[in-house]
Amino acid sequence: MAKAIRYARTGGPEVLEYVEVEVGEPGPGEARVRNHAIGLNFIDVYFRNGLYPAPLPGGLGHEAAGVVEAVGEGVLHVKPGDRVAYAARPNGAYSELRVMPADILVKLPDTIDFETGAAMMLQGLTVQYLFRQTYPLKAGDTILFHAAAGGVGLIACQWARAMGVNLIGTVGSNEKAALAKRHGAAHVINYNTEDVVQRVLEITHGAKVPVVYDSVGKDTFIRSLDCLAPRGLMVSFGNSSGAVPPFALSELVSRGSLYITRPTLATYAAKREDLEAMAADLFQMVSSGQVKIEIHQRFPLADAAQAHSALESRRTTGKTILLPCV
Ligand code: NDP
Repeated sequence: MAKAIRYARTGGPEVLEYVEVEVGEPGPGEARVRNHAIGLNFIDVYFRNGLYPAPLPGGLGHEAAGVVEAVGEGVLHVKPGDRVAYAARPNGAYSELRVMPADILVKLPDTIDFETGAAMMLQGLTVQYLFRQTYPLKAGDTILFHAAAGGVGLIACQWARAMGVNLIGTVGSNEKAALAKRHGAAHVINYNTEDVVQRVLEITHGAKVPVVYDSVGKDTFIRSLDCLAPRGLMVSFGNSSGAVPPFALSELVSRGSLYITRPTLATYAAKREDLEAMAADLFQMVSSGQVKIEIHQRFPLADAAQAHSALESRRTTGKTILLPCV
């Protein structure tokens, strides 16, 4: 038996229940993992509130770090006792112990502790693919990155600085602006008090940017398109303010033959060799100190609902983790 978070209906944080669940033996291709730390991500909110559908009742959470207790038939790349981390479906990471597909487990280097491992996988692998693959950045590029003081955001600021990229970050308060700057944002715009398009025009001397990374969605989408230079790429990778409503393709024409993509980590890390290469890149960025994983909020697993409230109401910065009683 293990303690875990379950939800039987979609809704606000109050639908999350801390319950006892049975955890069996791993079947073929599976592993049983004892989670030492669990990562909270905005995608967990989308599943909980029903924006992303899932079978119910069900578990929640894509990300954790811990120790392999047992493996099923055919599992060769991890063994009992290995320290591992993961960031992928199926939902169910909000648990002390779980049986899960083994092919999404990555061995954690000894230099990276469990909390950091649980905090870095989903958001770090996301920045990896956004910056190295979706639009491969090069030194000297100037980019617009929304929600720069959040979990993904603070990793992006540091990663951009390490690559010599000028990141223009947007944030919702002056405190968050200072935080993003300290982590490497070259410029910061408070989108609650400043005109983002106007500021991007000023900063780039009228040139605008070749790529916008927008995870805020509904509230920022159209203005993000206005920040793109002709033939620029709109990377719409999240919906923290709500889903982007349908829009006319003519919006891309009138702004200069823009491109748009709606990427997700699941696609980029679908193949085992790609996951390993992306994780190696991330581990190198963290182990070398170029990217520091900022855990600013810790909650007991039992208080996952409070953690969700904090994330949704924009009271968090950097990463939030949940801690089971190990
Ligand atoms: P964050 O820690 O960045 O939290 C979300 C932030 O979004 C808030 O702190 C807030 O910052 C900003 N925001 C703007 N409008 C709203 C709103 N109406 N409600 C709540 N927050 C708002 O979360 P994560 O780092 O976990 O994720 C960031 C985004 O990246 C999410 O949209 C997530 O879905 C997406 N994502 C996408 C992935 C992919 O592969 N496609 C993978 C990982 C994350 P502020 O106060 O500064 O405005």
